[in-house]
Amino acid sequence: MKDLPKDLWHHLAEEDVFETLKSDHHEGLSDQEVQERLRLFGENSITAQKPISPIKRFLLQFHNPLIYILLVATAVTFFLEEYIDSAVIFAVVLINAIIGYMQEAKAEDAINSLKKMMSASATVIRGGKKISVPATQLVPGDIVLLASGDKVPADMRLFKNRDLQIDESALTGESVAVQKERASLDKDTVLGDRVNMAFAGTLVTYGSGMGVVSGTGDDTETGKIADMISQAVSLDTPLTQKIHAFSKILLYVILTLAVITFIVGLFHGQHWVETFMAAVALAVAAIPEGLPAVVTITLAIGVRRMAIRNAIVRKLPAVETLGSTTIICSDKTGTLTENQMTVQKVFAGDQEFDLDGSGYQPDGEIKTTDGETLKDLEEGLRLCLLAGTISNDSELKQDGGLWQVQGDPTEGALIASAVKAGLQQSEQMDKYPRMDIIPFESDRQYMATLHEFDDQNNVIFLKGSLERTLIRCKDALDAQGNSLALDRDKITATAERFAAMGLRVLCIAMQKVPKDEQTFDRFQSQEAAEQLTFIGLQAMIDPPRKEAISAVATCQKAGIAVKMITGDHALTARAIAQQIGITNPDPDADEHRVLTGRELAEMSDHELLKEVEKVAVFARVAPEQKLKLVTALQAKKHVVAMTGDGVNDAPALKKADIGVAMGIAGTEVSKEAADMVLTDDNFATIEGAVEEGRNVFDNLVKFITWILPTNLGQGMVIMLAVLLGATLPVLPVQALWLNMTTAVLLGLMLAFEPKEPGIMKRMPREPDSPILNAEMLGRIVSVSTLLLIGAFGLFQWALAQGESEEVARTLAVTLFVVVQSVFLFNCRSLTVSLFQTPAFSNPWIWAGIGAMLLAQLAFIYTPVMNLLFQSAPLELTHWIMMLAYGALVLVLVEIEKGIWRARKAKAMKK
Ligand code: ADP
Ligand code: MG
Repeated sequence: MKDLPKDLWHHLAEEDVFETLKSDHHEGLSDQEVQERLRLFGENSITAQKPISPIKRFLLQFHNPLIYILLVATAVTFFLEEYIDSAVIFAVVLINAIIGYMQEAKAEDAINSLKKMMSASATVIRGGKKISVPATQLVPGDIVLLASGDKVPADMRLFKNRDLQIDESALTGESVAVQKERASLDKDTVLGDRVNMAFAGTLVTYGSGMGVVSGTGDDTETGKIADMISQAVSLDTPLTQKIHAFSKILLYVILTLAVITFIVGLFHGQHWVETFMAAVALAVAAIPEGLPAVVTITLAIGVRRMAIRNAIVRKLPAVETLGSTTIICSDKTGTLTENQMTVQKVFAGDQEFDLDGSGYQPDGEIKTTDGETLKDLEEGLRLCLLAGTISNDSELKQDGGLWQVQGDPTEGALIASAVKAGLQQSEQMDKYPRMDIIPFESDRQYMATLHEFDDQNNVIFLKGSLERTLIRCKDALDAQGNSLALDRDKITATAERFAAMGLRVLCIAMQKVPKDEQTFDRFQSQEAAEQLTFIGLQAMIDPPRKEAISAVATCQKAGIAVKMITGDHALTARAIAQQIGITNPDPDADEHRVLTGRELAEMSDHELLKEVEKVAVFARVAPEQKLKLVTALQAKKHVVAMTGDGVNDAPALKKADIGVAMGIAGTEVSKEAADMVLTDDNFATIEGAVEEGRNVFDNLVKFITWILPTNLGQGMVIMLAVLLGATLPVLPVQALWLNMTTAVLLGLMLAFEPKEPGIMKRMPREPDSPILNAEMLGRIVSVSTLLLIGAFGLFQWALAQGESEEVARTLAVTLFVVVQSVFLFNCRSLTVSLFQTPAFSNPWIWAGIGAMLLAQLAFIYTPVMNLLFQSAPLELTHWIMMLAYGALVLVLVEIEKGIWRARKAKAMKK
């Protein structure tokens, strides 16, 4: 068994394939066989290869202009025989690289582990039963069912297919989907032409099929291609790119200033070594070393918080984009509603019935409209319920007393309604064996099955949307099952009455066909013909999710419009939209206007642009039309989040600023295309993710506002000293110490700030607005100036007091630490007063301050540090002066914040 033939699976005859794999078309493998083969072949997963070797990744940390400067500084100081400085600078470069390495690895791990959380499953036949197993548990010989939207879980030889089309671009680069066939092929057929095979990792875009697994894990074609496996996670986002660009400009500015510093220093007649050190100090001090790393970490923290709230981010930029979302386009079924469907109304044999009961519980009565319990099941109603339960690909299973649907909830409801009339699905399926199927596709809006019926006939049962089904009917059935003239108006009116109650309506029809008709070939060739007999309607309730109602309200308060996009009937959609509180945002618009897919198709792009913002509910929309909607909304400068679950939703998900796929009901294809996956399929989760996204952005702005004064302040201090021809208040190594410790111990803690109270009460951020607004820029400049005055003043004062240069410098450096610690509290909220921010809502701040204090005490009082950093012990009076100055800064910034608040409040009133 272990030595399976290689590269022959497409060539072998089908019997030989099954022979070699010791498997069976109908039975599949036994559980015992599976266990043995799992031991023999291992799990079906590809051995992950680290995308970049650790050494290379470590070396990449040095690939940074700032580090180049530091390396040059190391070399120059070394030649100047300043060995301690040289060593310290180099040590800092090393530590920086190590921290950068670890942080990058951690951020990547965080995202990778999320990927694992979304492991795919596969539908297999084992021991004659259809079950769902994790894709990793597949073994050669397993019989796998493929349906549109699946990602092929292993290599397999196909032995059954209906219009099966597979997108193999991941493997062959060919973007047109391949039509699969049942055949045996030439031995040397190339990979792209092996139409009787399906390969792991490719995507089923249409139809359905069955195959027997021929290779798993590393033995698959995908497994053989090394570079496809690279699981590199991109940590790049628009924001990190902006910051990179900013850093580059900053670098040039600082280098220019450093050169000027050098020249001015020489001009003042200082020794060139000293001036050079001043220039290096300036460069080192003014560059925010910690910025890029902290930004990435903040984003990673956002990713984790979103995961806790059931939103799995697949692409890092989504974390940022979420915060500026202006429109969420959501599916109705399952996202805004519970996806717990129960049939409440049946119309069959020209009669209406009420069904009670809830969920998929099989108990409940069928009553006539005058409240009488149904006694005997007449033929018209029987056929309606029968068709619903056997033209059906789902099953009900009892799980801890509760009945759950396996498959499509719409179909689950139809199984439960039949049971209420005594029709058990499995019994009926045995009684009317199925011969062929046209599976449900959203585009088609119906599903049909072909069954053995009686001695004379086979039968086609079809269920689907009213619009698509009724036009194909020629007559109807009366209560006894005899033919009746088709009253289209009455049926439509009944269906619309149900739909207006918020019920999802399914129309059921049949056609008797001759015994020799055993496939859908003829039926499909006569797509347009009126050949069906209308049997009835089944209308099911799908209650709105309670969380969705409040989440929609929250979004609306936060300036985010919510639009419902559904394949369901316009009236059903409207009723549910009203229950959930989705209304047209435009006050002039007709509150109840629903745009249907048909109207959408007839609109020109220009008309659509005019209408798209005004309409909140889109019904009977084909998945392809979602793309048109996203495009129109984006043309209106919206940042659009769009949900989707089917194969055909993929283009819209890709196009949307945030494509959102469903973790439970979604196809693998949609998940692959999405930026974010909801593990609970719940609309409220999108709202939660937006909240987290806004928080991430807030915290980034807080951090940037906090960190820049350190650099600007030091830069100004050094420039001033050079211009005045005075002694340097901060040495290069001291600047390094300051920048490294404060960024990691203090600034980083802002990434853990909880959400600000009004976070969902303000408008979305403009996507292309600058990261820092006038208020923040003003604050950065004023705090930098306060730092300049404090540090330079204290330094000069100490020298005037006759203190040593070491003491004076230690004072200047420690003043920075004190002021930045204090300013950290100011930055916990950009607008809300510090005195109204709960002191302990972010314990990390305190931990950071504690750690910073210990580090700084070591810097001041330990001989080693005194040697390395040329620092010196301080006295109590020094501390009192620094703390007093810190308190002053704290109060001044709060006053400044207060002024901005007052200004904004005034602007609001106007
Ligand atoms: P939604 O956006 O509500 O999920 P769908 O595209 O799934 O819309 O369904 C569109 C219409 O197709 C439904 O209103 C219903 O009439 C019909 N339909 C849905 N599911 C099935 C099914 N499993 N079998 C037959 N018809 C279905
Ligand atoms: Mg659906």
